[in-house]
Amino acid sequence: MTFKQKQSRLKTVVSLLVKNYPMPQKAPDEKLDLLQLVALAAISDDPYSGAAMQAMRRMERDYVDWNEVRVSSTYELEEVFKAYHLKPDHASMLKTVLQVIFERENKLTPDLTADTSPDTIRAYLGGYGNFPRTVQDAVLMFLDGQRDIPASETVLRFTTRIGVVEPGATANAVQLLYKKAAGAKSPRAVHYAICRHCVELCREKPLCRKCFLVHHCDYGTKQTSGKLAKAAVR
Ligand code: SF4
Repeated sequence: MTFKQKQSRLKTVVSLLVKNYPMPQKAPDEKLDLLQLVALAAISDDPYSGAAMQAMRRMERDYVDWNEVRVSSTYELEEVFKAYHLKPDHASMLKTVLQVIFERENKLTPDLTADTSPDTIRAYLGGYGNFPRTVQDAVLMFLDGQRDIPASETVLRFTTRIGVVEPGATANAVQLLYKKAAGAKSPRAVHYAICRHCVELCREKPLCRKCFLVHHCDYGTKQTSGKLAKAAVR
């Protein structure tokens, strides 16, 4: 497939996704402070999910502050994640981002920045040389201040399955493709739709036979044509 063909396929896929999973009118995250935004983005590849928000609220309720979360054991945090059916390996990501901030600020309190405008947050997080990029991109995406969708593990897996990038493609390559495919669509709306699709159908074990993208997806086409061929032999 040529680059142009890949772009064309992704454009179709993006249009179908956004049509099927429209963003709710009212964003639920308007009043979150920076630490809450960072926590949500670190807790899950799908920061819009109710489960991610509930896990974050539980940590705020059960721990004295984010510093106590930072020094808690990974195992303990993994148990919290599991309680909300979130991937437990994100516990170490949460600890990492809290540690990065703590090392520079020597505190983890809501007054880290004057405000949560996208420009302020971009400048603030950009000041850390070692801040995980997917979390930074997700925070900015959350605030609608980002033109690139976060190249999280989930987004990379989905994009690879569709067949428009090879396994191991760089975050830059994936983000460039989405930028071109999204056109005038809000990157946040595209990211939201991918997240929903990866929860509902394109899971770790994808439900290709139920998927409306199957005719635009290499993985899905292979899966379903194999099943049809087997059925024909029987
Ligand atoms: S057809 Fe399967 S692999 Fe492709 S997007 Fe749908 S669920 Fe994912």
